[in-house]
Amino acid sequence: MKIGLVTYAPEKVEGYDIHVYYSKSVDGKACPPVKDMQIDVTCFCDAQAIREDPTIVAVSKNGPALRKNRKANLAFDYVCPTNPIYQAKVLDYVESLGKEKIQGVTLNLYHFPEQEFCTCPRCMELWRKSGLNWTEWRAQAITSFLKEAKTRVKGTFAVEMFPDPLMAKERFGIDFDAIAELVDYFHVPLSARDYTTNYWVDLLTRDFLKILKKPMVVELSGEMLNDEKSVALMKIVAYLSRHDLMGVLLLVHDSENARQIARYAVNNNEYREWLNKNEFTAMNRIVDKWAKLY
Ligand SMILES: [Zn+2]
Repeated sequence: MKIGLVTYAPEKVEGYDIHVYYSKSVDGKACPPVKDMQIDVTCFCDAQAIREDPTIVAVSKNGPALRKNRKANLAFDYVCPTNPIYQAKVLDYVESLGKEKIQGVTLNLYHFPEQEFCTCPRCMELWRKSGLNWTEWRAQAITSFLKEAKTRVKGTFAVEMFPDPLMAKERFGIDFDAIAELVDYFHVPLSARDYTTNYWVDLLTRDFLKILKKPMVVELSGEMLNDEKSVALMKIVAYLSRHDLMGVLLLVHDSENARQIARYAVNNNEYREWLNKNEFTAMNRIVDKWAKLY
């Protein structure tokens, strides 16, 4: 199993095998690509673009796909994913990333905000013309956007998802089987404030491993808050290392946060004895590698 990072810092950190760089975020900020990194692009969540032109927001009978709309429970503000002008903007950005020798591109938030979206006049017209049911039409709309995006990507192509293994197609238009034919791997984000309760991480990992027909990485939040939470994080990484994963990615604020995780694991004798005693072979290899660097 590989160990990797998801980071807002445009640099690689020693001791990690996969480096995912968030270059376009939900607030609309887009940064230039970085050499040898996997570039993570937020597609249809863009608070700034919606502020500039409120007509592009996704809509439903319960109102717009905005955080401030309490009838919807959304973490971000969503542009309608069938908007051709905004789609072109995202696709041009994806293509522009190929100017640098990047590792590849991961797309994030490329789907509908929820099941009841989007009922804008364009979506209703496209749906009517398709002759498909609501779920199938929405899934095909998202898959065809991903197909187009893939033609613009240089290198490894991956997608994130909202981590719902059962309802992703109905809710978001995410058709895992269709997408598996396009991507090199899936990136499953299982973010949390901490992992002191962890059964759900193992549960969702097993479910996704069962349904996804391509390799998979799991992302965990890598913030080192205190001793108890740091040990909980390192233990769940060890448990995940027993699954057939391509890798575990740790979301960090910056490179120092990533080095702090490695140092913490290396210097925690109790944790290393626990790894040895319980034969966490894959995790032991990672910590041994860190021990040579940190
Ligand atoms: Zn729409």
